[in-house]
Amino acid sequence: MIIDREQLASSFALLCETDSPSGEEKKIASLLKEIFSNLGADEILEDDSARATGSDSGNLFIRFNGTGKGKGIFLNCHMDTVEPAVGVKVVRKGDTFYSEGDTILGSDDKSGIAAIIEAVRSIRHNFIDHPPFEIILTTCEEVGLLGAKALDPSMINAQMGYSLDSTGFGLVIVGAPASNRLDITVRGTAAHAGLHPEWGINAISLAAMALSITPQGRIDRESTVNFGTIHGGTASNIIPEQVTIVGEVRSHSIERLDSLTNQIENTFHKVVNDWQDPSGEARGKPELTINIKPDFPIMKLNQEDEVIQRVEAAAKSIDLNLEYKIAGGGSDANIFNGYGLQTAIIATGMTHVHSTDEQVDLQDMVDLTRLIIAIVCRQE
Ligand SMILES: [Zn+2]
Repeated sequence: MIIDREQLASSFALLCETDSPSGEEKKIASLLKEIFSNLGADEILEDDSARATGSDSGNLFIRFNGTGKGKGIFLNCHMDTVEPAVGVKVVRKGDTFYSEGDTILGSDDKSGIAAIIEAVRSIRHNFIDHPPFEIILTTCEEVGLLGAKALDPSMINAQMGYSLDSTGFGLVIVGAPASNRLDITVRGTAAHAGLHPEWGINAISLAAMALSITPQGRIDRESTVNFGTIHGGTASNIIPEQVTIVGEVRSHSIERLDSLTNQIENTFHKVVNDWQDPSGEARGKPELTINIKPDFPIMKLNQEDEVIQRVEAAAKSIDLNLEYKIAGGGSDANIFNGYGLQTAIIATGMTHVHSTDEQVDLQDMVDLTRLIIAIVCRQE
């Protein structure tokens, strides 16, 4: 297996220095189409998800026909990055890559993309036989997995695949929670706070009462709850008529996800229904609207699953030890698993992601490239 370290380093730097904040992936998508076309891809498609996601680009599907026997797989990375993402300048100290410190680096997720490019280059260059494989590059992952949610799973030929998108190295993520998003609006009655406080019903106070008795933080080994934003009120001399709070429930157990969501719903209903008019002069009654939307489905893989067996065998063949872990976050892999396509997440070596301290070691990307080649070319 011949990996060209410097080639890998330079394509990584080129990807990082091609700005691609969420929703503006067109430039990097064009670059990637060109790179994979030069590498002899048999098919390169861009889907029409841009309409749904609001991005200036669709998701990319890049296919290589098989040259050997064995089951096809897909590899997945996201093309977008979090902010501050514009004007990235890659700094290399020894074999570690950083940004100049005023932007992110973009190793999330370009370390994965660079490793795929180098793996494909090596496979083609050395005429290594392989089953068919696909590369699925999504948009808008960092702003709600929008590209993955908007793609048409019937465009994917393989039954299973790997997302190269996690911090650390030698790590495979086999489980991630499902999440519900909760939009809760409490409506009271506006009134002048100095002249007619008795007429008003304070929506903020009611929401605060409900929040103060709602379970939050880490609830149990499998579940978390958070309320992250609150908007309401207009001025200090007006009793606030309306407040909207947005929160989420996550759990590795669907039963717990449902029961916690219900518990929060019931708590808000009870507080609003139990409201009592202290003066008997309030205008109207408080009201409540709760919108619950599944945000992403659960991801739960077992050691016996083919997708895990294949990565384990591939790692063994190159003397790499893997650790298997459960994650607390949602990613494109949740969406693919929700489509019925078993997808494991492989760590790429990136660290300190979503910050200007983000970094990645070249050696980890080299080892990731070796692992990708071993997975893709596995013929059994
Ligand atoms: Zn990522």
